[in-house]
Amino acid sequence: MEFENTFRTEQDCIDYLISIRWPNGFICPVCASLRYWRKTKGRFECIDCHKETSVTNGTVFHKSTKPLLIWFQAIWWIVAQKNGVSAKGLQKILGLGSYKTSWTWLHKFRRLMVFNDRSKLKGTIEVDEVLLGGKKSGKRGRGAEGKSLIAVAVEVQGRKTGRVRLAKIPNASSESLIKFIEGNIDKPSIIITDEWPSYNELEIKGYTHVTQKTTAKDNEEEVLPNVHRIASLLKRWLLGTHQSYLNKNKLEYYLDEYVFRYNRRTSTSRGLLFLRLIKQAVIKAPVSYKEIIKQNHGL
Ligand SMILES: [Zn+2]
Repeated sequence: MEFENTFRTEQDCIDYLISIRWPNGFICPVCASLRYWRKTKGRFECIDCHKETSVTNGTVFHKSTKPLLIWFQAIWWIVAQKNGVSAKGLQKILGLGSYKTSWTWLHKFRRLMVFNDRSKLKGTIEVDEVLLGGKKSGKRGRGAEGKSLIAVAVEVQGRKTGRVRLAKIPNASSESLIKFIEGNIDKPSIIITDEWPSYNELEIKGYTHVTQKTTAKDNEEEVLPNVHRIASLLKRWLLGTHQSYLNKNKLEYYLDEYVFRYNRRTSTSRGLLFLRLIKQAVIKAPVSYKEIIKQNHGL
């Protein structure tokens, strides 16, 4: 799919959104009537209840003053960037007037990167927690000032890794870790952890639990090598792309973006990723700048 040939005009973008939102023809969101008059700019009027609906109503593009073409260009650019994007980069590429706009857009896009229908990890999975941010090294289980605790799960397929899941967790208690694991990993999978006692209940919960023993001090890298590799890639990525990640209540969204990119690292089809994000943009409700500022992840 060549972007420039597919989307030359605003109308091309409108037609594309219509084909995604109403693949079998317009349906009135108020009365479910299938009878309509088509108007300009992607608007439809229901013949039965006369309610007018725009194809962008209730989507991420709702009430935007920017043309869809700019939105589409932004999404097209984002899916091409292997290492993620910064608000400044987006602002520059699209010639957006304000940093605030590009920052807001990026946060809207990050919200599109979590798919409600995604399936859980399965097979053999390494799980561990890592600390991110802060200046001092922290102690496990208690948390450390200025740091965030991140649960990491990664599928291990021989010498290769499969998909990954990340989540910020409040502490390394059994409750937090089991909640993360049950939310992200299918039963019955094989879960490999170190000997941290919070993982002791895994067998009771229906998993096969394998522990790896740390044989000497300070050689954590030797156990759970895949989790630790993901963790160091993540740290490097956050420092390189999102220097403001210490903005704590936004960290989860950067984690979502990382997971989205990591799990699609071998995907060669830019067009498919683009389609996936546009579909998400149509399904997910819009959020405003104000909401992004005050919202916490998952709310
Ligand atoms: Zn109607």
